[in-house]
Amino acid sequence: MSRRRQIYEGKAKILYEGPEPGTLIQYFKDDATAFNAQKKGTISGKGVLNNRISEHLFTLLGGIGVPHHFLRRLNMREQLVRQVEIIPLEVVVRNVAAGSLAKRLGIEEGTPLPRTILEYYLKDDGLGDPMVTEEHIACFGWAGQDELADMQDMAIRINDFLTGLFAGIGIRLIDFKLEFGRLWEDDYSRVILADEISPDGCRLWDMKTNEKMDKDRFRRDLGGEVEAYQEVARRLGLLPDGQDNAVFDLDEARKARETR
Ligand code: C5P
Repeated sequence: MSRRRQIYEGKAKILYEGPEPGTLIQYFKDDATAFNAQKKGTISGKGVLNNRISEHLFTLLGGIGVPHHFLRRLNMREQLVRQVEIIPLEVVVRNVAAGSLAKRLGIEEGTPLPRTILEYYLKDDGLGDPMVTEEHIACFGWAGQDELADMQDMAIRINDFLTGLFAGIGIRLIDFKLEFGRLWEDDYSRVILADEISPDGCRLWDMKTNEKMDKDRFRRDLGGEVEAYQEVARRLGLLPDGQDNAVFDLDEARKARETR
């Protein structure tokens, strides 16, 4: 039981009221969903790994000047973040054809794209997160022109940085999804990076073997999800080399104690 007030429960995360005004606690669950929640499952230990990986990537992005909501990691599954007003768009960045792009346009998965593509999807589970254009975004006011321009600039910058970072550890960044939010200061707001960046929302392929190291392992019933996420964390230097069970999960240990 939690004494904290729950603000929102998503498919893979829960948001709680934070300790100070303007902050939230982002809790990473082990739940996994795919195909607009038609497929559901649990990847034991995923939340711990995503919390750590996302902390690392947000911290590095902050270091190159990308404004973001992450404040600090609190424990194995929780991080303190700034409260933002989420812009109801998923911004997808693609470097290589895969997933829905490959399917929709009949392009073979793995085909490098001659230029990076940005796509926008409306965050609406009831509608199955439909793809939308800049025209729709402007027409329906989901984001202002300046906000969209800021999101585009940040997405390209994040892509350049992460592509290089992952290439340095033998991983191809195929595509990924970003979410942004408005940080309000009096009557003025600015757009900052929000949500998470983890193998749940990225396609990451091993450069040598093309092995998938992301949520496609779950989506496509390939198995070995947690091992793949662990390998990403290990290559990022977040787990000691060669230890299978390097992450001790306090939350799981507590649950195990309680059911004993
Ligand atoms: O399925 P699709 O090919 O459109 O996904 C593109 C990228 O965006 C993938 O890396 C996928 O993990 C991510 N994505 C996501 N959440 C969604 C849709 C896509 O993280 N709701």
